[in-house]
Amino acid sequence: MRCDGDVSNLKIENRKRIENLYDVIVIGSGPAGCAAAGTCTKAGLNVLIVTDQPNPYPLPVVVPGPLESIHPGVSSLLVKIGAEGAEFDATLALYSGIHAGDNYTPLGEDTKGTWQGMHINRDIFNARLVTLVQYLGMKVMYNVRVKDLILEDNKVVGIKTSFLDLGAKYIIDASGKKTIAGKMLKFKRRFYSPPLICWTGVSKIDETFSYDLTAAHFIPHKDGWTWLAPQPPDYCAWTMLSMKGEKSFLPPEELKTIITLNTIHFANMRWRLFRPVCSEGILLCGDAAGILDPAAGQGIFNALLSGITAANTVVKCIQEADLAAFHLAHYDDWFVREFEGKVEQLRLYYEEHGITVFGREQGAGSRDKMREQARSELIEICLF
Ligand SMILES: Cc1cc2nc3c(=O)[nH]c(=O)nc-3n(C[C@H](O)[C@H](O)[C@H](O)COP(=O)(O)OP(=O)(O)OC[C@H]3O[C@@H](n4cnc5c(N)ncnc54)[C@H](O)[C@@H]3O)c2cc1C
Repeated sequence: MRCDGDVSNLKIENRKRIENLYDVIVIGSGPAGCAAAGTCTKAGLNVLIVTDQPNPYPLPVVVPGPLESIHPGVSSLLVKIGAEGAEFDATLALYSGIHAGDNYTPLGEDTKGTWQGMHINRDIFNARLVTLVQYLGMKVMYNVRVKDLILEDNKVVGIKTSFLDLGAKYIIDASGKKTIAGKMLKFKRRFYSPPLICWTGVSKIDETFSYDLTAAHFIPHKDGWTWLAPQPPDYCAWTMLSMKGEKSFLPPEELKTIITLNTIHFANMRWRLFRPVCSEGILLCGDAAGILDPAAGQGIFNALLSGITAANTVVKCIQEADLAAFHLAHYDDWFVREFEGKVEQLRLYYEEHGITVFGREQGAGSRDKMREQARSELIEICLF
């Protein structure tokens, strides 16, 4: 394993130049990073978040912009990490079910009533998340970009920023699509789909908008889909996906006649996973470890869950240092199983809705081959 930075002079005698030894440094302050940092802090570890984001106060102003949709199940994870209520502050609209093609599926109900999903503003959600977990007592460095990792004998022992080096027993990489650790450690990428272009924006709507305002809408096309998230009375946020390298990034047909506000953002959401997702001294979580397109509907949920699981793994590795390799291998196996399970679910969902399902040969090869490769990678991790 290699790292791009100069690591040749970081033996014990030179450790003095690595300032501030933490138990855990978390890279990134999105949902995965906040979940990891909150969980480690609650377990009594000395935690630092390093994020290239600015201090979130004053809170971002709400302007019409793309929204992301979360299932109410996200709330229970937020309670676990000490960020209860972050989702409510960011919620701009609710939905009680999803129209997908000709079907309508309610989110569910319990004794308290009908479950409501939330269409959230991500800037406000992230700002509330990091503020709430910071109250647990961790340190956060804002506006600081991690530029490299520090290795000693193949073990990650710290990070480099533009102005200082910081050491920790464990690094958790939650840098999202920037995938700091995966790239710097030259981990292999395993692809499960061809490139999938996703673009998102918000449109102004009026009384001619004929879609159910209390629900979200998944509208399948042969080579992709449209997601509508109405924000009554004036707006509808939308996300589109195309498998055929769409270049126009137009708003959806359904909203073409209605004025579009805001810049249109786009991203490549090709299904992909790093192999492995941990190594000596480092764990990857959230989008930094693996990405599925938003039709999976669980990007934020998975980021929170994998952040919590990575953090629990670190706690065990520190408490039982002799068994660290075993705990890391367990995390790696858990992440791959979860990810591949969701890949299968998403393929089925696409099939059900008549969306072209790409063959496995366009992705990572057969499932058996993938499993076999995953097993040998695990053995490698166990033996380091
Ligand atoms: C168009 C689109 C629509 C989506 N819609 C939904 C949806 O409706 N529902 C849903 O659940 N999910 C949705 N997702 C997915 C969801 O946004 C992601 O899965 C989720 O944000 C992943 O969280 P994360 O914490 O892993 O990464 P991120 O949220 O990307 O956080 C990464 C953090 O790392 C920081 N960072 C990056 N590089 C560095 C560096 N070098 N140094 C320091 N800090 C760094 C970033 O500033 C950020 O704070 C959507 C994604 C896209 C692209």
